[in-house]
Amino acid sequence: MRKTKIICTIGPGTASFDMLKMLVENGMNVARLNMSHGAREWHQGVIRSIKRINKKCGTSTAILLDTKGPEVRTGDVSRDMVLKKGAPLTLTVRRQAELEPYCVEVSYDGFVKEVEFGDIVLIDGGMISLLVKEVTEKDVRCICLDNGVLTSRRHINIRGKSADLPSITDKDWQDINFGIDNHVDFIALSFVRQASAIAELQSYLQEKKAPIDILAKIESAEAIPHLDEIIAVADGIMIARGDLGAELPYEEVPLLQDEIVRKCRIAGKPVVVATHMLESMIVNPTPTRAEVTDISYAVLQGTDAIMLSGETATGKHPFKALETMDAVARRIEKQMGLETSVRVKVTNKPKEEIARSAAILNNNLQAVGTLVITRRGLMAVLLSKCRPVAPIFAFTNTTHVRRRLGIYWGVHAFRIKFSNDPEVSIQRSIEQLQRQNLVKTGDRIIVLSDILAGGKFVETVQVRTI
Ligand code: PEP
Repeated sequence: MRKTKIICTIGPGTASFDMLKMLVENGMNVARLNMSHGAREWHQGVIRSIKRINKKCGTSTAILLDTKGPEVRTGDVSRDMVLKKGAPLTLTVRRQAELEPYCVEVSYDGFVKEVEFGDIVLIDGGMISLLVKEVTEKDVRCICLDNGVLTSRRHINIRGKSADLPSITDKDWQDINFGIDNHVDFIALSFVRQASAIAELQSYLQEKKAPIDILAKIESAEAIPHLDEIIAVADGIMIARGDLGAELPYEEVPLLQDEIVRKCRIAGKPVVVATHMLESMIVNPTPTRAEVTDISYAVLQGTDAIMLSGETATGKHPFKALETMDAVARRIEKQMGLETSVRVKVTNKPKEEIARSAAILNNNLQAVGTLVITRRGLMAVLLSKCRPVAPIFAFTNTTHVRRRLGIYWGVHAFRIKFSNDPEVSIQRSIEQLQRQNLVKTGDRIIVLSDILAGGKFVETVQVRTI
């Protein structure tokens, strides 16, 4: 069983029922809907299909809605604009039907106020780099630092700066309401700069009684000084390396990845490493060795989830990309053993310490897994934080908690009907594991559950032989 989870972005190449089913069967744990593209009706079709697949196949693929966020983009170009190194290009906030050659609209009127002479402007994640030479009332005159081709509606970053747009735009609020109405499991908030935006969304979700977890996307330069507060408030983090490496010099990205994964693991918050993991497989049927090493590194760090973007959304080889990611993660995990396990700080919180004890027993007694009975998922999350060697079998009584656990490292979640007697719930869970050939008679297993003692429920860790 793979411990590192895989998120696949759904796009035109993978949105049909049959394609989605193949992604689920081939190891997709979370389906990502990128609200920067596609109409809401289109996304609704995907959500319905995933829910039907889960029902039909007994799977628990979670749904993540990724907001567009306060992005700045270029406007439409009538045909691809070929740019030469040293040639001029004007970015304008003029809204007129015909623009002069080598001039393109920018979607955000405040752009002219935020750029200055000498700034570097990156288009399409750095595929085109521009140096700002002059800023007028409506135009930003630049020169191209490299050859490139500009197509329509490309993403714009100003190196080292974030656009002064509201953290959650009107479109984002509409998409969030769409996510609430369609019962998605996660919302990824784009271009988070401060923890206050997450807190604002959290109180909105609470008001709406929507049990949706928020992943803060770290992709803006302004977020970096606030990392600790953001990790403390968010339910999880996505390291959005594409935009992050455009807003900051790209050589900062590996160091930030290291820091964010480490901090999330200490905090017990799920962390996703995203973007360019198998970029070359958008076109090619095999990965570059550097991409294989990038996936391996994320797995060795103990990242909860790794993500495919264009590879599964629009790429030529979506299933091969998923198969590659799955194979690399499994191979590396097989090698990992104890070295990433139980490296969490000692706390004086009983639940955390009970989970740690279960992880230690699991490792020391070489159990086949730990069975956790969990209503809201908390004990499974605390156990995942300890990264035990053998799988975590989490049994819960709601489909939402089951799907939500799908993003956490090492957790394999199941739904059962809970009994008032915890022992009956444990027995039902063991029977289900036996039916699925995940455990067999004679296996040693750790059980983390309440038991009834003296008329009270008491959290216990037990060592059992099936
Ligand atoms: C990224 O920039 O790495 C990212 C995941 O963001 P998006 O794909 O939403 O632009």
